[in-house]
Parts: sequence; C-alpha cells; structure tokens
Amino acid sequence: MQAPTHLLIGIIIQKAVLKHSQFRGAFGISIIIISAFFSHFIIDCFSRFTYHPPKADWNDPFWVSYHLMIYSLTLIIIILFGREYWIGIIFSILVDIIDWGIIRGLLKKEGIIHPLIDKISNFFFGENKYMYQKWTIIFEAILIIILWRILYWI
Ligand SMILES: [Zn+2]
Repeated sequence: MQAPTHLLIGIIIQKAVLKHSQFRGAFGISIIIISAFFSHFIIDCFSRFTYHPPKADWNDPFWVSYHLMIYSLTLIIIILFGREYWIGIIFSILVDIIDWGIIRGLLKKEGIIHPLIDKISNFFFGENKYMYQKWTIIFEAILIIILWRILYWI
C-alpha cells in the first residue's frame, strides 16, 4: 500500500498502546515497534486490491498526479504527527525503507521482503488483478479516510 496508509497505522498503534494499554516504558515501546513493523506485512497483502503499477511511469499524467498527492499527504502526516509518533511512523514504513530505499535505491537490487509478502498474499488472495486498474485508488482513499478518523477517535 502507499506510505500514508502505513504511517497512519503506525501512528494508531503507538497512540493505542500509549493511551489505552498498561504497557509502558521499554516494554511498551517494544510492543509498538514489533506491531508497527509487522503491520506493514499485513497491509501490503492488500496492495493487490489497489492501483499499484510495479514501475514508476512519469509519462502517465494519472500516475504522476496520484503519486504527487500521495507524496504530499505523506509529508503532511509527517509534519502533523512526526514529532509525537516518530517510532510508530518509522517502524510502519521500515520494510519500504529497506526494500525500496536501501536495496533498490542504493544497492540497485530487487527488494527481499516484498517478494515474501507477495507469496503470502498469493496464498490468501490469488492472482494480482488490480494493480493497473486506476479506479481501485478509491479503496486506498477510503482506507486512509477511515484510518484518519480512527486516529482522532481513539
Ligand atoms: Zn511495502
């Protein structure tokens, strides 16, 4: 899924643990780190129901405008919540930082964790039919709105 979805989940996890659980101190932080890290696996299993072309297409106006919106929203979330919820934020997106930032970006190799997530997702959901279907951004948009609502509600 896109970064805003992951970040909002990470923030919700951190807020939920700190406000609504008895877990405090190092143990509470460990719970946040582990939950936020593995939330990425679960959330990315649902990527196949949303628009996710595997390669960037800077010639496609739809791809460009959608991703500009996603990048702006990511920045807004980091500005609004980064100071208070940086642990949830970093660990919710760590898998993307490792695969797309370090391994693909710096080492110019293919990611190592996302192929595993794809295998899990294939097992549960079968073939990936929607990754080029532009209209499926609606699912990600609805999810982001719901998560944003939950974040203020908890
Ligand atoms: Zn990912």
